[in-house]
Amino acid sequence: MEVINKIADLKVKVQSLKSAGKTIGLVPTMGALHRGHASLVERSVKENDVTIVSVFVNPTQFNDKNDLANYPRTFEADRDLLSSLGATIMFAPTAEEVYPEPDTRTFSYPPTDTVMEGAFRPGHFNGVCQIVSKLFEFTQPTHAYFGEKDFQQIAVIRAMAAEHFPGLNISPCPIVRENDGLALSSRNTLLAADERQIAPNIYKALKASVNYAKNHTVEETKQWTIDEINAVKGLEVQYYEIVDAATLASIKDWKDAEHVQGCITVFCGKTPIRLIDNINYK
Ligand code: AMP
Repeated sequence: MEVINKIADLKVKVQSLKSAGKTIGLVPTMGALHRGHASLVERSVKENDVTIVSVFVNPTQFNDKNDLANYPRTFEADRDLLSSLGATIMFAPTAEEVYPEPDTRTFSYPPTDTVMEGAFRPGHFNGVCQIVSKLFEFTQPTHAYFGEKDFQQIAVIRAMAAEHFPGLNISPCPIVRENDGLALSSRNTLLAADERQIAPNIYKALKASVNYAKNHTVEETKQWTIDEINAVKGLEVQYYEIVDAATLASIKDWKDAEHVQGCITVFCGKTPIRLIDNINYK
């Protein structure tokens, strides 16, 4: 595996791969890699001639300076893992390399980027579109892989790709969980032992809510799920929305959408650590 830090070097490499007719899979990450990221890389390696994994903690998508400063960084372990998974290139640039000047581009895809994470983290999805569009441009991928853990992010990226990169395949990958149900996340390493113990109650409630939903309304199911999680000391729901999986608009009736997803954000512990998860209803 080759580690590349400079955009110019990456572009030269991509050009020669393209000329040789190779298909390119891209997996964008912020590092502190775990089995969730590994599942995306494994799929890309299987489906493409070459796989490029970017490891870059993108400052423009953080609306909280402390969150950016505390974000875990584990470069050596990431490099070893990616190499063992068969990735071709690890692209690990500095912030100065990616943003020699402030990126003033704006992206807007309502309601996908204005609801939920878009409402609670202003500017977050604009930053995501800034970095992902740059990565698409640098690597010219055939396929790009994203985890359903960030369910809303996939909808926003699909909209951005449809506008700027027609023909690029966006491939969603299922959420990888711990045995106790907690969705794997780089942020889980920031949880104290007692916080780690209560965190699985998020998925436990989401799963139970699918059963509850069978004979309750959308509004009842939403409130029941929030109450179940808030009843656990140390957990506090920031939002829970039951939405049309395609548009991310909230629904009133289970019949309002063909596919329905519940998307949640929960504060865990004293710090607190912000955890996201989601579940499919139909
Ligand atoms: P991040 O490094 O958190 O920006 O995540 C990079 C990619 O890995 C994103 O597409 C995430 O959705 C995906 N990802 C993160 N955690 C998981 C997980 N537990 N299961 C599946 N994909 C994940």
